[in-house]
Amino acid sequence: MEDADNPGGHGPYAGDAAVTDDLELAGVPDAFQRLWTPHRLAYIKGGQEQVTSEQTCPFCRAPQQSDEEALIVHRGTHAFVLLNLFPYNAGHLLVCPYRHVPDYTDIDEAETAEIAALTQTAMRVLRKVSNPSGFNLGMNQGVTGGAGIAAHLHQHVVPRWGGDGNFLPIIAQTKAITQTLGEVREQVAAAWPSSGTAAGSAS
Ligand SMILES: [Zn+2]
Repeated sequence: MEDADNPGGHGPYAGDAAVTDDLELAGVPDAFQRLWTPHRLAYIKGGQEQVTSEQTCPFCRAPQQSDEEALIVHRGTHAFVLLNLFPYNAGHLLVCPYRHVPDYTDIDEAETAEIAALTQTAMRVLRKVSNPSGFNLGMNQGVTGGAGIAAHLHQHVVPRWGGDGNFLPIIAQTKAITQTLGEVREQVAAAWPSSGTAAGSAS
């Protein structure tokens, strides 16, 4: 079955073959598809179908682990922030509600407000830590919308630097970046304002 998001290529759950396809697309000027593809493919080995319940959902399990194990940089009241295990860029963060809900319309007012505030804080912290020249923010909704874990809402915060599109999908597949995730987590967590979601105080 052909995926409209990945024309003529491999489906989102085709494993290594699909990842290779991403590498082949690395020179294509339209960055949007590639941006959301690597983590969608790779977040869970074996794919989306493994997230059948809160017990198998990595975003439900993460808060039960230590910050270091789960790559969490901040725990809020209704939502938390963690590093994407398969980042598009170094410092690629995900802001998740604690509740296992799939859709942006499922979150209540308090969750919505905190996810927005944490997204702003994440941008401020990343600017302080790694001085990106831009960001991509977004939520993929549903499998068709490209969500890697469609069952649990997550907001992407992806720092961007000029020219990163050409090589980062490649290094995202290497062990080197995986080994630095702990260091990136330390840096981001250390720079996170102690007031948590408070605006503008990350100095
Ligand atoms: Zn979940």
